[in-house]
Amino acid sequence: MPSARSWRAYPQTYRLEAGKCTGCQKTFFPPRQVCNTCGGREFETFRMGYTGEVLTYTIIRTPDDRYQGEAPFAVGIVRMDDGPKLTVQIVDVPFDDIAIGMKVKLEFRRIYAEGHDGIIQYGHKAVPVRG
Ligand code: ZN
Repeated sequence: MPSARSWRAYPQTYRLEAGKCTGCQKTFFPPRQVCNTCGGREFETFRMGYTGEVLTYTIIRTPDDRYQGEAPFAVGIVRMDDGPKLTVQIVDVPFDDIAIGMKVKLEFRRIYAEGHDGIIQYGHKAVPVRG
């Protein structure tokens, strides 16, 4: 079964709800309780856009058990146009074509199938924005 924690986080993750500190305007995804820049505790919730760019990436060839069937795959840090940075899988592009600075957008995809009971987890993956 998915943990209670991931289950509660599901709607927020699905909608890409992020938090913006009302003190310094820094943005966080997922939202947090205390701003790590100014220590503020007041946040506005906003819905992030789906686009961003790749800051860095790596190819995972020996993942942990949950992702065994999917290796190798690319994981990158994406800076969203709205500010937050996310660690996401990069899909639908040959590894050789992934580049720092590449424009991507998030799509909601299957992440992994868990164990023999076939529970499937969903989350966002980054796909290239083709011009
Ligand atoms: Zn702040």
